[in-house]
Amino acid sequence: MELNDNTNEFHEESNRGYDAGMANKTERLAENAPGRYYVDGSCIDCDLCRSTAPALFKRNDETGYSIVYRQPATPDETAQAEEALVGCPTECIGNDG
Ligand code: SF4
Repeated sequence: MELNDNTNEFHEESNRGYDAGMANKTERLAENAPGRYYVDGSCIDCDLCRSTAPALFKRNDETGYSIVYRQPATPDETAQAEEALVGCPTECIGNDG
């Protein structure tokens, strides 16, 4: 009975809008452009997102993190942002949309 209660709590937790990835919006970097895509503080500066969507992601040279420089404005750009989100090795790109 105790185990089932815990399982239900887990499912409630996982239904709060985080299912697009493991990014934590409470750790969203302040430098991200306003909008649904963002990078949180677990970026390891691997360059994948900047290579995948160079018009959307930039490196913040002061912090060493990537940020969303501009939100996607077209379906192609949205697809690039999603590709970066899925490919990010630390799952630190989020989508609040
Ligand atoms: S893919 Fe993820 S870890 Fe790599 S630079 Fe981009 S945000 Fe950082």
